[in-house]
Amino acid sequence: MNILVTGGSGMVGKSLKKYLPNAMYLSSQECDLTNEKEVKSLMVKNEFDVVIHLAAKCGGIIDNMNNPESYFTENIQMNTNIVKWSRLTGVKRFIGILSTCIYPDKVDTYPMTEEMLHSGPPTPTNFSYGYAKRCLAVHIEACNKQYGTQYQYLTPCNLYGENDKFGENSHFIAALVKKIVKVEKEGGDTLNLFGSGKALRQFMHSDDLAWVIKECLDKQIYENLNVATEDNLTIKDMAQIALESCNLKNIKIVFDSTKPDGQHRKDVSIDKLKGLLPEFKTLPLSKGIKKVYDKIS
Ligand code: NAP
Repeated sequence: MNILVTGGSGMVGKSLKKYLPNAMYLSSQECDLTNEKEVKSLMVKNEFDVVIHLAAKCGGIIDNMNNPESYFTENIQMNTNIVKWSRLTGVKRFIGILSTCIYPDKVDTYPMTEEMLHSGPPTPTNFSYGYAKRCLAVHIEACNKQYGTQYQYLTPCNLYGENDKFGENSHFIAALVKKIVKVEKEGGDTLNLFGSGKALRQFMHSDDLAWVIKECLDKQIYENLNVATEDNLTIKDMAQIALESCNLKNIKIVFDSTKPDGQHRKDVSIDKLKGLLPEFKTLPLSKGIKKVYDKIS
C-alpha cells in the first residue's frame, strides 16, 4: 500500500512513524500544501492509495489571536488542495485530522458528541483556526456525498508529546514542562502560569492518536470519531500532576488571571470510538509528562 502522511515532520507525524514506518512522511519543505501546483504534481506522480492528512498551521492561543488571517488561509488552502487532489487521483482512503477546537464554544450538555459539531460557532480565541478545520469536515463529507468516497476525519483533543514544539509558539504541556525545567535549573520556588487555572482540558499523548489512526486503517473503520482521554482536568490539576511527576512538589503555582484562559471547557465524548475500538486506552498524564520532562531537562 502506497501511503502519504502530510505533516510528517510534526509531533503526530513522528508518533505515526512508529506504527506505519513504510509510509511517505512529508514536511512543508518537500511539498508546500498551500501551493496547488506542488500538491497536484505530488499526487499525480505518486498515485497514493491512502492519505493521512496531519499537516496544519497550528499554535498557541496568543499566536492564534494575533494572526487569525494566516491561520484561516493556510489551513483552508492546505486542506482544500489535499482533499481535492486525493479525490482526483483516486485515493481510496483519506483520514483528515481535525481538532476539538472545531466544536462550538459553548453547548448545553458535555461531553460533546460528534453530532454537535455544527451547533454553534467555535471559541473566539481560535475562531479562524477552528473554522478552517471545521471546513475540512464539511469538505470530506461533501466528497463522500457527491463522489461516493469513504473519506473520514478524526477529531483529537489537545495533544502533547516528546516531539512537541518547545519554542515561542508552544502548546500548554510543552510550555508547562519548559517552565518547570527553567524554575528547577534556576533554583526558583514559584511556577507562574497564565490564566485562572480553572479552564478544563483533555490532554492526550500523540502516540495514542497514532495508534487510533493505524487501527482505523487495519480494521477498516470509516466513521468520523472523537479521539480523547476521558480525564477532563483543570489547568491547575495538570500543573500539580506535572510537578509531582517531575518530583518537584515543593514548587508553588501562581496564576496570572489577567491573561486569557481560552475556552472554559471543550471535552468530547469517546463513546463512539470505544464502541468500535474497545481496547483503546490512553497513557496516564503523569507518565506522559515525565517522558516530556526527561526529554528536555
Ligand atoms: P505540528 O507539530 O505543528 O506539525 C505541523 C506539520 O504540518 C509539520 O509537519 C509542518 O511541516 C506541516 N505543515 C505546516 N504548514 C505546511 C504547509 N504549508 N505545507 C505542508 N506541510 C505543512 O502539528 P501536530 O501537533 O503534529 O498536529 C498534527 C495534526 O493534529 C494537525 O492537523 C493539528 O491541527 C491536529 N491537532 C493537534 C493538536 C495539538 O495539540 N498539537 C490537537 C488537536 C489536533 P514543517 O515541519 O515543514 O513546518
